[in-house]
Amino acid sequence: MKVVQLTSPEKVEVRDIPARREAEPGEALLEPILVGLTGTDAMRYRKGAPTKDGFRSPHVPGAEFVARVLRVGRGVDPTLVGKRIVANPLAPCLKCTWCFEGNHHLCPNMRVLGTPPVAGALQQVFAWPANLCIPVPDSIRDEEAVLLIPLSMAIHIADQANVPLMASVAVIGCGSLGLLLAEVLRKTGAGEILAVDLIAYRRDAGFRHGATRAYDPISAMDAVSRWPRRGVDIAIDVSNASEGSRSAVQIVRTGGRVLIAGIPEDNRILFNARDARHKELTIQFVRRPHDTLARAVQLLQSGSLRRIGELVTHRFPLDQIAEAYRLLRTMNEEVIKVVIEMQAKPASQEPAEIEAKV
Ligand SMILES: [Zn+2]
Repeated sequence: MKVVQLTSPEKVEVRDIPARREAEPGEALLEPILVGLTGTDAMRYRKGAPTKDGFRSPHVPGAEFVARVLRVGRGVDPTLVGKRIVANPLAPCLKCTWCFEGNHHLCPNMRVLGTPPVAGALQQVFAWPANLCIPVPDSIRDEEAVLLIPLSMAIHIADQANVPLMASVAVIGCGSLGLLLAEVLRKTGAGEILAVDLIAYRRDAGFRHGATRAYDPISAMDAVSRWPRRGVDIAIDVSNASEGSRSAVQIVRTGGRVLIAGIPEDNRILFNARDARHKELTIQFVRRPHDTLARAVQLLQSGSLRRIGELVTHRFPLDQIAEAYRLLRTMNEEVIKVVIEMQAKPASQEPAEIEAKV
């Protein structure tokens, strides 16, 4: 089988290695159909694959995927075989204090698919705990299903934001996660939803995916300064940039709330401490989704997010993984989400067949 390996910064290779044939007890052996590249994947491409012990190579990336179940191990429902699934990429230990308290998304012993030392989904066959797999209904197309993991994160962020009906919310950073978040916030009853991004085509995408207004960070500040409360009620930074949290603090109102879910590449966040203190802001960090994947499947199945497949702007066959990473790095061609077709005959279903099943 073919496997993608990050071997050193800015170097990615496809290698042939023997495929696993059996699933261990409790596991599902999976054949990924599509794998989505993430902001973290892009960061690891630029920097190598950092671990607590420094760079360790080679590394198999990939955390967002839709797959078909090839085989299951002992103790797993055999009817799972042959089904299309998505899976939670977070495998908690279920033994520690946080797991025992029900906060298993904060488990310090978490195994994360595609995060060193755990190999990710960019290999043609791999195994993952079957209890983390959720079947995907036929009505959800592959290019929508591959967005279910980031959608589960968007739902978790919205849960944490706990938006009062008609409250104003700014989403800072309009990549795929920010746009999915804008869609989810619309469903939760937010009033004004501001899409804030430096890049014009991403602001335009905001309008197509739930935002009621779109601004670059400076214009956003200028616009909300004329509002009665001179700011949005809640500002959410999903930008993966140090400056995202600064914008959030600037455009939120006095007494408002800021959520920070982005992962800045230089591991710093920058905001004006006096502004934050004078406004008496409540600032919350958000890290990982907490059991929201099944709700993401239900939300897509409900048909109320009809346009999210458009977020997949680029598809590459596995052999062109280097081109895919380069595009992700340059952010050219109005890229939002890049996905990799993992099998020689990639799409599991032709569009005509899907129509027939619907
Ligand atoms: Zn644990």
